[in-house]
Amino acid sequence: MTNFEVRQYDAAGRLGELTVPRAGVTVETPTILPVVNPHVQTVEPATLASEFGAEILITNSYILHGSDDLREPVLEQGLHGLLGFDGAIMTDSGSFQLAEYGDIDVTTEEILEFQHEIGSDIGTPVDIPTPPDVDRKQATEELKTTQERLEHAATVDTGEMLVSAPVQGATYPDLRERAAADAVSTGLDVFPLGAVVPLMNEYRYADLADVVAACKRGLGEVGPVHLFGAGHPMMFAMAAALGCDLFDSAAYALYARDDRYLTVQGTELLDELSHFPCHCPVCTDHTPAELDAMDADGREELLARHNLHVTYGEIRTVKQAIRSGNLMELVDSRARGHPAMLDGYRALLDHAEQLERTDPVSKDAFFYTSNESARRPEVRRHQDRLERLPVEGDEVLLTEGSSSAQYDETWGVLPPFGPYPRELADTYPLTAEVPDRTDRAAYEAAADGVRRLVDLHPDVSFTLVHDDWPATALDRVPDRVRLRDLHARD
Ligand SMILES: [Zn+2]
Repeated sequence: MTNFEVRQYDAAGRLGELTVPRAGVTVETPTILPVVNPHVQTVEPATLASEFGAEILITNSYILHGSDDLREPVLEQGLHGLLGFDGAIMTDSGSFQLAEYGDIDVTTEEILEFQHEIGSDIGTPVDIPTPPDVDRKQATEELKTTQERLEHAATVDTGEMLVSAPVQGATYPDLRERAAADAVSTGLDVFPLGAVVPLMNEYRYADLADVVAACKRGLGEVGPVHLFGAGHPMMFAMAAALGCDLFDSAAYALYARDDRYLTVQGTELLDELSHFPCHCPVCTDHTPAELDAMDADGREELLARHNLHVTYGEIRTVKQAIRSGNLMELVDSRARGHPAMLDGYRALLDHAEQLERTDPVSKDAFFYTSNESARRPEVRRHQDRLERLPVEGDEVLLTEGSSSAQYDETWGVLPPFGPYPRELADTYPLTAEVPDRTDRAAYEAAADGVRRLVDLHPDVSFTLVHDDWPATALDRVPDRVRLRDLHARD
């Protein structure tokens, strides 16, 4: 399985290349697959490619299969001919319809063969999308059916078409993790995380982070991982940091139909906007009032175009952030758009240990931008490595100030990381930019680092010289450490 290669990591986020052999293209990830409704094209697929740089899109083979007016044309012209698109085309199977209407009239084998026949580049079996919060028995039983279908899908002859293996398991992390490992074992190619749309619709970003993290534990570093139905740019950075590579967006078109305007911080209603907070051609050439005065079709198309500009713009922003090693700073900044996103970011940080495994050892700079920064993977990694750093001497000074000859050894202390040998001062992440007026979380994290070091060396005597740490931080330092304030007179 070599259709996906990771070029660079930041946290669990990845810049990758997905080779789609049937289309003869390589798609750079993370990326978005615009959802194209074969019946109603708000923006033509050719325009998606030429104006927005779309390399891949997704459409629904179940709709084509069941359509009196499109079934024959698509079999005759092929999917690329029908849609007028040369890039990669992924097809969904009807699982969404199954979830919405409770019943569909194709089997996995039929729909996979149909997808292959019409020239799909990435096909999808009919899995069972188990919604969040169902009882465990239902989630387990439906997972069993999904897994049987994935195993069956792996035996269907689909030539060069890649086949996806959706991961279900509702909101049970252990089921998601197992389902993901089982999906990998089928040898299929792309891993959509299914039935997460209800979580996103209800702004349950913390639950979403837990579900994605659980799936990723089961998947390991195979890929690519597709967050199925995720089309709002506000959550791309967070999902990418957790290790999602593909998103798909019906939102750009659906929202446009209801006069909803996407931003990286959330959604605005057109009639509540006096100014467009965006630099895209639509927003620089028009005012909200002008759009408002247009006929519905014209307005819908322009809003869809704006929505696509924001969507692709955020994908590029995420890619550049991974390239620059500041994806976590971007997640932090996006988390300020909505309290539910902040919950999502905090839940993501609960998985810092998992994110740390692929996080590069060295990056440009660590910016401490909020109290959440104290829980970032880099802080955890620094404190973990205290176990491997030797302490020489019986009397050791840990200080935010300068060295003292009275001690056998002097270590620096930097919130939020804690103690560090002075010779590491110029190495990542200790080159961090931390505000002078920092917060309690940074001091408390640093105190936890002090405790880690002190507990590792029961025979060494430690003195901590701190710069006005709050009591909540000092309380976390073991009692046997002598404390002095940097600015107190001796
Ligand atoms: Zn715009």
